[in-house]
Amino acid sequence: MKHIFLDMDGTLNEYTNTVHFNKVVFEPGFFSKKRPLWMVLYYLQDLEAEKYIISASPSEIHDDEKYKWLKRFCPFVPTENIIITRWQEENKMDRLEQYLDALDLDRDDVYLIDDEHEYLRQAEKMGINPIHTSRLIGMIERKETI
Ligand SMILES: [Mg+2]
Repeated sequence: MKHIFLDMDGTLNEYTNTVHFNKVVFEPGFFSKKRPLWMVLYYLQDLEAEKYIISASPSEIHDDEKYKWLKRFCPFVPTENIIITRWQEENKMDRLEQYLDALDLDRDDVYLIDDEHEYLRQAEKMGINPIHTSRLIGMIERKETI
């Protein structure tokens, strides 16, 4: 069984720039309004694998926006498989490492799909399979499976 950990912003939905005048701004509704990448969602929905979310969020209000977005657009991810970490306070990859240790999964069967190169590099060091969002889109177009 494959275990696929999914980033949200720039992976399941459109990347949006958050930097205004050298300041990062997440207005209320920022995550609720994100447009889904339907091609990716349809592909994941049909993929035979256990699916998880690993996503960083700036505050509890935004956590709530993310949970609601997932409930609406990603019903194929069970709520207990959603990991939301606190942005800038915790490296989400550290949390992923703890989670994998607790589940005792064979890391050859574990994948991270993300648009951040730094996270993909860390995934590789952890012995899990990194897939950049752009590569996933290529695989979808070629009708390849993970
Ligand atoms: Mg991202």
